[in-house]
Amino acid sequence: MLANRDITKGWPAYAVWAYSSVSMLPSLLFYQFQLFNTKFCVTYRGMKTLLAFLLAMTFTSPSFAAEQRSFEIHDQLATQAETDKKIALTLDACSGKYDDDLINFLIQNKIPATIFATKKWLDRNPLAISVIKAHLDLFDVENHGEKHIPAVIGKGRTVYGILGEPDVIHLRREVVEGARAVEQATGIAPHWYRGAGAEYDSQSIEEIDKLGYKIAGFSVNADNGATLKKSTIAKRLEHVKAGDVIIAHMNKPASDSAEGLAVGLAYLLKAGFVFVRLDQVDLKEMPEKFEKKIREKQGR
Ligand SMILES: [Zn+2]
Repeated sequence: MLANRDITKGWPAYAVWAYSSVSMLPSLLFYQFQLFNTKFCVTYRGMKTLLAFLLAMTFTSPSFAAEQRSFEIHDQLATQAETDKKIALTLDACSGKYDDDLINFLIQNKIPATIFATKKWLDRNPLAISVIKAHLDLFDVENHGEKHIPAVIGKGRTVYGILGEPDVIHLRREVVEGARAVEQATGIAPHWYRGAGAEYDSQSIEEIDKLGYKIAGFSVNADNGATLKKSTIAKRLEHVKAGDVIIAHMNKPASDSAEGLAVGLAYLLKAGFVFVRLDQVDLKEMPEKFEKKIREKQGR
């Protein structure tokens, strides 16, 4: 700098300005290069952060979350003639006790039903097994899992407050061991599966299908997990249409389910409906309701 001052001594102002600008150019370029390097380093680290951020955004975005959400499957009987008044009654035996009032009513009125039993429930209710086995003309027993764990995969995920499966391995065990228990109890291998809480996610649906089981959805929820009053259950059954699949529960004898179903089912018999079991029919999904449920879940 001292040398510069010396050189420009006595120069006109514009010449000094031009000279200093040109002389500063190399250091400016060097500074820019440094800055570029710094920027590059920051950018490189930033890129990693950005990538992590984008991944996080992807995994938490509504479209990805939608796949991870659970939903009910709403089904009706697959083959329906115009004049057909076929309907299906499905009863879940999750855990807990045996509602003998309900089963006795079905036997007395010759109403066929499909029972979805867990290993847990079968182990605890040997009397129920003997009654069911004595009436295999009426009852088809299908798979409701080993320990009544919902078919949603991922740590901390729940259905109606019940913890789901941590991974696919656990889901497979729930399904396979549930099936084994049904076959041991009745001598007949099940072909239908209903997860605890009757909710699923895309991964569990795929796995259950790979294991060779059809998922049993429903179209009429008669007792909301055996929590509804007698009059409400009866009223819900009054709205049953041909092709409907009714879901109710047979594991809570202290609930209103048996009484409400007795009234509602008697009404349906009188109205000319014919009850079929799931081992005699196939089901088809109801896309409108299915989509609606997903949207409802997303909105929460
Ligand atoms: Zn259940």
